[in-house]
Amino acid sequence: ISHLVTVKEDITERKRQEEKLRLWERAIDSSVNAILITDASQPGNPLIYTNPAFERITGYRQEEVLGRNCKFLLNEDTDQPDLEELRQAIHEQCEGHALLRNYRKDGSMFWNDLLIAPVRDESGKVTHFIGIQNDVTERKNYESQLEHQANYDTLTELPNRNLLQDRLNQALAYVHRHERSLAVLFIDLDYFKNINDSLGHNAGDRLLKQVAARLAGCMREGDTVSRQGGDEFVVILSDIAAEEDVTLVTRKILHIMNDPFEVEGHQLFVTCSIGVALYPKDGVDAGNLLKNADAALYRAKDQGRNNAQFYNAEMNVKALERLMLENNLRHALERNEFLLHYQPRVDLRTGEITGMEALVRWQQPELGLVPPLRFIPVAEETGLIVPLGEWVLRTACAQNKAWQLAGYKPVCVAVNLSARQFKQQDLVKVVTRILKETELDSTYLELELTESLIMQNVEATIATLTELKAIGVRFSIDDFGTGYSSLSYLKRFPIDTLKIDQSFVRNITTDPDDAAIVKTIISMAHEMRLRVIAEGVETEEQKSFLHLRHCDEMQGYFFSRPLPAEAFEALLREGRCLQMDETAAALSQRTLLLLDDEENILTSLTRLLRRDGYKILKATSASAAFDLLAEHPVGVIISDQRMPEMNGTEFLRRVKQIYPDTVRMVLSGYTDLKSVTDAINEGAVYRFLTKPWDDDLLRANIQEAFQRYELAQDNQRLSDEMASINEELNRAKRELEKRVEQKTSEAQHNVDVLQISQEMLEYLPVGVIGVGEDGLIAVANHKADELFDGEGGGPLVGCLASERLPAVMVECLAGASERRTQRLENGRNVIFWSHLMGASSGSEGRVLVIVPNEEGEG
Ligand code: C2E
Ligand code: MG
Ligand code: MG
Repeated sequence: ISHLVTVKEDITERKRQEEKLRLWERAIDSSVNAILITDASQPGNPLIYTNPAFERITGYRQEEVLGRNCKFLLNEDTDQPDLEELRQAIHEQCEGHALLRNYRKDGSMFWNDLLIAPVRDESGKVTHFIGIQNDVTERKNYESQLEHQANYDTLTELPNRNLLQDRLNQALAYVHRHERSLAVLFIDLDYFKNINDSLGHNAGDRLLKQVAARLAGCMREGDTVSRQGGDEFVVILSDIAAEEDVTLVTRKILHIMNDPFEVEGHQLFVTCSIGVALYPKDGVDAGNLLKNADAALYRAKDQGRNNAQFYNAEMNVKALERLMLENNLRHALERNEFLLHYQPRVDLRTGEITGMEALVRWQQPELGLVPPLRFIPVAEETGLIVPLGEWVLRTACAQNKAWQLAGYKPVCVAVNLSARQFKQQDLVKVVTRILKETELDSTYLELELTESLIMQNVEATIATLTELKAIGVRFSIDDFGTGYSSLSYLKRFPIDTLKIDQSFVRNITTDPDDAAIVKTIISMAHEMRLRVIAEGVETEEQKSFLHLRHCDEMQGYFFSRPLPAEAFEALLREGRCLQMDETAAALSQRTLLLLDDEENILTSLTRLLRRDGYKILKATSASAAFDLLAEHPVGVIISDQRMPEMNGTEFLRRVKQIYPDTVRMVLSGYTDLKSVTDAINEGAVYRFLTKPWDDDLLRANIQEAFQRYELAQDNQRLSDEMASINEELNRAKRELEKRVEQKTSEAQHNVDVLQISQEMLEYLPVGVIGVGEDGLIAVANHKADELFDGEGGGPLVGCLASERLPAVMVECLAGASERRTQRLENGRNVIFWSHLMGASSGSEGRVLVIVPNEEGEG
């Protein structure tokens, strides 16, 4: 029995054990973690068990993997640091932990957080290993995303400020150890705000991405390009041998910006400025290097942008100065430290002064005369521009009025407006009030706006401009060509004048691109009936070029710098004009350009043509010919066909684009019929002449060409004159309309007054009768009719006084005007007297006043 009992207990015990095993099996089967068991006693440590989670995670079914070593999960990606630890654990038969890149059956990678532990038998011998795999891919991805976000700029994917600090510190540690040097470059796009303001932030963002890509694309491996935010980038050149290396890089950066950027269908030309600080010369830690590179960047901006500057110690002094500037500026207005200078504008046809631009200056006690470019940006940032702008407007208007009152010929004053002022709600009110206070006629005020200003918030801008335009104020677009508006777009705005920016005028006579831009602006503006003013004209040549291309006005040092009010007044007093004679002389002289790469041909042509009185210009290369064209009013060009630089037809084709008015001919011994006919058909070549030439025929051809040229010139001049006459007419018409409007409103006012007087007359308790020279009653109020009521005949008006009024009254009307009393036929007593009209009005006749005399009646 006891045996039976033991057996039974055994069975129960086994059952319990089996139950427990099944539970474990179920638990292992339902585990979310993959669990695997290997046989440590067999060579190669093969798998003998995997649970369903293993299949779920790896994609391998149990049958496919049993008997294999787990290594297959690595897919040959064996260069992983944690693998060593795992091998060590297996070797030492202890627990191990590793984070591994493993690969699923479909080849995709997952992060395997793996724990292994040895399984020992009773004797303590390791028989198996159990492994628990945890798929942590998602967590890892999230972590790396976080890390990426913390270290990379989301817009450009470049390292951000954070990562830059790390990299800079690492790089500094390296160069310090190895006694090398490095450079920090601070890069900032020029006028980026204009792009954001005029094309919107989306376009700005797109541009930044492209800039980032170009920057990153031109660096060496190991250098870091980072975005600091906004349009600022910082580059670390991690190991440099010489300062010249840095210069090469900065040149390269400035160069890669040359090509335009394509953004939303716009071609944007963008430049940048660069500040450089070097380790160890300009700083040994990250903070100082960045700060000094930034100071150098400021300097680069000051130097006119689109350049690179290396840091030097005096730059910090400049930064300090700026701070001081800002502090002092706040009090400058109340301390009366601002003043205006005036720069004349002159008409390029007549040479007369047509107006002036008011330019603000700051007379700072310590710094002296501060130019606007240094303080206007600060005033804009601080908001001071609004009261300052108002002061400028008032002062300029008052000064202009004062000059008109002093008897000088009235001309227009132009005042610059900043964007911030324009955004003011009450700009229209401010302008109206100032015009009223200063009593300046609105047609003598012109407001200068920039392209980027008008491109912000287009609809609101058009509304404001239209309102001001209705008052009579005129508008010009300042610095035209530097913004991103197109001429056709400008049509929407009520604008009168374009001012071509100085940057185009500067090289107008030497740079064919600038010349072409200026010419296009002038002719398109004229088509849109806008006047064109060239800014920054400094030389005779520039003036002549502009005059020849029919620019209307100019402004610049060539005629006069901006002047204090007294000096400007002296100009007015002297009646200073721009001398136009030389241009006129140049215009009237026929200028012929000869281009041939053979010097002797030029010589013999000159000899032949000299007798015809031409001014002859000679060039042996196309580029020399272009220079001459820019500087002289060339009418006719004769070019050789076969030349090394470019052939004659190609040269003339280009000339046609820049100087379409010229008459162009080829003189050549060589005939390639195709290119000749093409060029003639395009209109690039007027005539094709052959070498050797017939002297008389050549001379006749040139004569004819000049006549053709002059005819076209005359036409142009005529249409210019027409345009200006039209403008004059329009002005007169506007003036007339204004007067008519004034008169009409005066007349309306008079009618109103009359009606009111009549109405008041009706309600007087006194009889009033007006009698004309002819004795007819012209006016009689209600009381008068009532007094004579009952005497028959109805209303008095229209009757003869002698028929309706008692004789004494008629007599009184004719004679003196003392008061009298009378009893009327209806029994009422009245007092009456008469007045002669015309003392305070233009009317004639007499008025009779009749007051009821109640006492007398009683
Ligand atoms: P801006 O309106 O384009 O004015 C023309 C600038 O060119 C003036 O500089 C003038 O002195 C300069 N300039 C004129 N002729 C020549 C020349 O032949 N060669 C060269 N190199 N420069 C010439 P300024 O007076 O320093 O004014 C600079 C800018 O400051 C102005 O450019 C304007 O944008 C701004 N500014 C001036 N006064 C005011 C103001 O009252 N309000 C606002 N908002 N801005 C102003
Ligand atoms: Mg201006
Ligand atoms: Mg300007």
